[in-house]
Amino acid sequence: MDLNPPRAVREIARRLEDAGYETWAVGGAVRDAILGLPAGDWDLATRARPWEVRRLFRRTIPIGIKHGTVGVLIGGALYEVTTFRRDVETFGRHATVEFADTIEEDLSRRDFTCNALAWHPLTGELRDPYLGLQDLQAGRLRTVGEPAERFAEDYLRVLRALRFAGHFELAIDPATWSALVAATPNLPRLSAERIREELWKIFTKTPRASRALSLYAASGALAVLIPELDRTVGVGSGLDAQGAGEGGRAAGMPSDVRRTASAPVHGALDGPPLDAWTRSLLAVDALPTTRPLLRMAALLHAVGMPAARTRDLRGGWRYTGHEAQGARIAEDIMRRLRSSNADTARVRRLVAHQSDFFPPDAPPAGVRRWLRDIGVDLVYDLFRLRFALCRAGGGGAGSADLVARWRKMHRILLEHPVLDTSGLAIDGRDLKALGLEPGPRFGEILRALVDAVIEDPTLNTRESLLEWVRREVGE
Ligand code: ATP
Ligand code: MG
Repeated sequence: MDLNPPRAVREIARRLEDAGYETWAVGGAVRDAILGLPAGDWDLATRARPWEVRRLFRRTIPIGIKHGTVGVLIGGALYEVTTFRRDVETFGRHATVEFADTIEEDLSRRDFTCNALAWHPLTGELRDPYLGLQDLQAGRLRTVGEPAERFAEDYLRVLRALRFAGHFELAIDPATWSALVAATPNLPRLSAERIREELWKIFTKTPRASRALSLYAASGALAVLIPELDRTVGVGSGLDAQGAGEGGRAAGMPSDVRRTASAPVHGALDGPPLDAWTRSLLAVDALPTTRPLLRMAALLHAVGMPAARTRDLRGGWRYTGHEAQGARIAEDIMRRLRSSNADTARVRRLVAHQSDFFPPDAPPAGVRRWLRDIGVDLVYDLFRLRFALCRAGGGGAGSADLVARWRKMHRILLEHPVLDTSGLAIDGRDLKALGLEPGPRFGEILRALVDAVIEDPTLNTRESLLEWVRREVGE
């Protein structure tokens, strides 16, 4: 079998093999290449010890010597070469590893059968002791060895299973699935960073993220990790009265899971109204993998709906103000995931302003006021989010004439309007020169000038502004 790796993979293998060290290509790239998908990073596993790898290549980087990983630089690309390893101790978070002598030992510690394939770059031989190829062909995800044990060794594997099943459209094998569901209560033992990184991998690697995310909900992982989101399942579908939180949930069986996972993607948008969770998933799918933060905001956009829900006069539900409540909850979730302050603030603002759009017939000054209030740094992303929500069937504020509104905003931004004091033709020194006492008052005056210039941009000349100050402040 030829998997057509980059030339450097064969070069590295040849150099190591010539020196007497057995060397294989392993991990995700082998899996992806077998599936006929563009393979990501090619990793190699070798019997050579790290210091021997370093001796054999001119340019190396000690990426994780303790774990046996040496980076080999060839033609500007970095390849990870890792010494065969075996686990000697595991306790659900980290494994203590030691070096091993055979590829079989190395493969036995890997998580899923489709990730435990080794391919020899020189002979083309496939080493597949756990029948990962069969599983891939059958569209099945299975742990290497006893599922409950493998999850208990490292609970991150629960989330990895959901991601791989969603990404490659694999059905999770029944034994693996029931062990996975049983392991979900242990997920909070993972560090917030590892959980966030897993979630981010879904956003950045999987265009149809809804499949993996549906599996988060169906398995119970969502209820444990982000219960606020789990509570949006079934909300807003018109079926709320039957008990929010139960509406969209799948029974535990893998075949059901599979159907649930694909349901949102093929969900008929002209059928009955979708629930908040399903709309969030569709909105994530409508955004590209290059914008993970926006995808996170889309996922969280309806998180305030359960708390904001009240009865309207005709016995239906309304969700007035869910954006503000949702912004607070989203901020909380982002902090819990130990996201950066910048990411947290941005997601909070996106959720808060998701429905705040200027009316289609707003005059230019109205659009400029809106730009000042929302912040120019946010508005393009706010439109992207709104477009995604519209595509997800979540109409609401902003859906009508959205393209026309975008054009209007874009046209005005091309004129570089003055929206804060930094764009004014005068500053504090000019106020001082007019004989005004410096102090908080300066800020107020300058902000009033900004407002005046937003109404009438032609005012923004030194003469007009100074005259405005003399007249309005009367000194
Ligand atoms: P991706 O496309 O997400 O990179 P991948 O399979 O390459 O998928 P990596 O996290 O890059 O995933 O890991 C490379 C390989 O290391 C995996 O294919 C698997 O064999 C092994 N591996 C990674 N994480 C674990 C884990 N938590 N438990 C067991 N084996 C793991
Ligand atoms: Mg990888």
